[in-house]
Amino acid sequence: AREPLQCIGCGALIQTTSPNAAGYTPKSALEKGLASGGDLYCQRCFRLRHYNEIQPVALADDEFLRLLSRIRETKALVVYVIDIFDVNGSLISGLQRFVGDNPILAVGNKVDLLPASFKPKKMKDWLRQMLNQAGLRPVAIELVSAKTNQAVDQLLAAVNQAANGRDVYVVGVTNVGKSTLINQIIRESSGIKDVITTSKFPGTTLDLIKIPLDNGRELIDTPGIIQESQMAHYLQPADLKYVTPQKRIKPRSYQLNPGQTLFLGALGRFDFIQGQKSGFTVFADNNVMVHRTKLENATDFFAKHAGELLTPPTGNTTVQPLQRHEFKVTDTSDLVFEGLGWVTVPKGCLVAGYAPAGVSVLLRKAMF
Ligand code: GDP
Repeated sequence: AREPLQCIGCGALIQTTSPNAAGYTPKSALEKGLASGGDLYCQRCFRLRHYNEIQPVALADDEFLRLLSRIRETKALVVYVIDIFDVNGSLISGLQRFVGDNPILAVGNKVDLLPASFKPKKMKDWLRQMLNQAGLRPVAIELVSAKTNQAVDQLLAAVNQAANGRDVYVVGVTNVGKSTLINQIIRESSGIKDVITTSKFPGTTLDLIKIPLDNGRELIDTPGIIQESQMAHYLQPADLKYVTPQKRIKPRSYQLNPGQTLFLGALGRFDFIQGQKSGFTVFADNNVMVHRTKLENATDFFAKHAGELLTPPTGNTTVQPLQRHEFKVTDTSDLVFEGLGWVTVPKGCLVAGYAPAGVSVLLRKAMF
């Protein structure tokens, strides 16, 4: 018997029978690949590489939880990667329970998107509060940018210390930058390059990938879990770039009177219903058109201009109706449109946030 064949993109075992499962490769492509002796890609990775096209793959929650429970049975350090720009969308409920007594090291990734003046200590305290509220008690928190390689060496030092001879499992929901981070770690530690596929599209990392660490232990990548409440799942690939910002976010501030509305493209709407005239700050990708209008005209305005003046979405993508969520703000808070961004709201305001059905809109302690 020969070695099982693996996709060199995602590591999944090559199979020719289930088109919707990991590692699927059409028989003809497999035969061609074997005949030419070349590297094999599964169909998903092939399409991604050559056409930049996503093939959605379902990693069911229970499958992922089974995988997490396996971690509970081993002595491990769990490195939990969080997108600092989408903390709520990065939460894995029950993570603490599923990893048992194993320590969790939380990594806030994508700090390159934050205003350059952000204070790491304050940010870590804030992130710790968010995680505690979600039932997580990380032993340490590190802030990095996988993309710009900021503080990745610091993270590695912290991982080595916390691992204390254990294997290291890296977990995270899709799109938090887990693959990008692991690629950086590989470059930093042993000089191997890009063994893992990365892409903008959710759901593109599959199967366990093991990377030998210098100390003889293993760093194990796990599949990204799909978070249905993320905005990314409700967008066409062409518009995804707006919710996966690549450049530092420029906060945009507005003095609003009650009775005024801000649109965040045609994906988010913020109504200031009651309160004192005050300043509100929008954190979203710089390409998201923020438009101020009167609350009383806002619904008509949306109907007329969504997809045109109000972008994203752009062009021929269908505009989705927005669902309303109302909040009374008692402390300075962020009104979060999960995966799109947030509006910082001063205390004492009655506000409403709107997003496409299925996308979470929620209130949290202000980040800044
Ligand atoms: P995964 O699904 O968690 O493995 O995420 P990927 O590594 O594929 O990254 C998802 C998206 O986030 C890609 O568009 C990356 O370019 C982007 N990304 C990853 N890390 C960073 C980072 O540190 N900063 C920024 N700005 N973008 C990042």
